Amino acid sequence: MGELDQQYLTSFLQTIVFFFIRGDMKNLQALNEVLHLYSEGTGQRINFQKSSLFFGDKCPEQVKDRVKSYINVRNVVVQANYLGMPSWVGRSPTSTFNFLPERMWRKIRSWNGRPLSRAGKEVMFKSVIQAIPIYVMSCFRLPAAICDKMRTTISNHWWGIEEGKKKMHWRSWEWLTAPKAMGGMGFRDMQIFNQAMLGKQAWRILTVPNSLCARVLKGRYFPCCSFWDASQPRSSSFTWRSIMYDGAAGSWNEEMVRACFNEDDAEKILQIPLCHTPCEDFPAWLHTKSGIYTVKSAYFLARLESFHVFLGENGRGETSDQSKISKSWKRLWAIQAPPKMKIVLWRMAHDCLPTGSQLKKRHILDFDACCFCGREKTVEHVFFMCQFASEIWRQVRKCFNINYKMHASANIRHWLFDFLEAAEDHEATVFAITEWHIWESRNAV
Ligand SMILES: [Zn+2]
Repeated sequence: MGELDQQYLTSFLQTIVFFFIRGDMKNLQALNEVLHLYSEGTGQRINFQKSSLFFGDKCPEQVKDRVKSYINVRNVVVQANYLGMPSWVGRSPTSTFNFLPERMWRKIRSWNGRPLSRAGKEVMFKSVIQAIPIYVMSCFRLPAAICDKMRTTISNHWWGIEEGKKKMHWRSWEWLTAPKAMGGMGFRDMQIFNQAMLGKQAWRILTVPNSLCARVLKGRYFPCCSFWDASQPRSSSFTWRSIMYDGAAGSWNEEMVRACFNEDDAEKILQIPLCHTPCEDFPAWLHTKSGIYTVKSAYFLARLESFHVFLGENGRGETSDQSKISKSWKRLWAIQAPPKMKIVLWRMAHDCLPTGSQLKKRHILDFDACCFCGREKTVEHVFFMCQFASEIWRQVRKCFNINYKMHASANIRHWLFDFLEAAEDHEATVFAITEWHIWESRNAV
């Protein structure tokens, strides 16, 4: 008995077994023989009452009847989940995977009535809601419509829903999913994360070619070539198409290199002389120290790339001093203060708090006057210039010995970053707490 047979027998005894057969008599007889042999050999009997049949969508009725009566199994599975995964993806993948955004929505709804701060929501979304589709995403490429639905569910509830109406989304999804060190909130972009997870499957097929899964897929889809050269026929399963998605990379096959890399990179790759010593090629992942693919590194890489595209498209070419900006954001998130207060600072830096001037700009209100002094209610005014704020700051400065100067013309984010860079840890903490209280007490008026 070979090693694979033993592995197979072990799994046969421990868990549920699937047989994939054609519905003709030859196959049915062979299956019957196998089952009979198994019973004889192990002394165990198969419970046909607990067994189920599953037919492909194009299987003719008479074949179904033949199989049912020959094997004596009546239970036919129409559309089922197996261990939480859809066992059949039909013509409409969107309806197959619709249960994911629905499950997210139900979970969020079950928290209704619990007063969660935005920081509390952040934790719940990141640790509970975003985890819901992960298992399915490790095998299937979810349709864009499903990713959109999940995105809408998260962003609507993050910004808030009141009496069934969604509230203003003060920052785009791009910003919510950007890494925190780049000014985002670090939520997960489902589509990119899905791609990174499927990359792991491709990596396994490449690096563990003897695994049962890799051998089954090889036998079915690329029996005579390598994984890189495998095609993606229209008739292939949804799982295979998911793994093959974006799954091409280069060796020194010029056509392949040019197809996969931008012009400059392709030229450079092609100029690298090939090694002629007889050694086996092996896959190595450039973006981890160990050379082993990780979902985290792949996600980070892809997310960063798409974020740079977003910045470029929106005319925010801040890439030149990106490391400085990143240091500033990290400093903000490292302040020792409750997370909800740091989120107010994050919104202050983005100028995306519902101040009078922002509400007017977005046509929600037609006046932008401060409720205390009647002056224009900009973010700078709210936190520093207004008499209400400056009086609080005067007292706080006295108690905690904080030196800060606010210029009316300064850009709030630049000012904030400069302040945080120069501030001692305790000053940053006092700053975050004070600003949060100023904001909250204003909202209470
Ligand atoms: Zn004022």
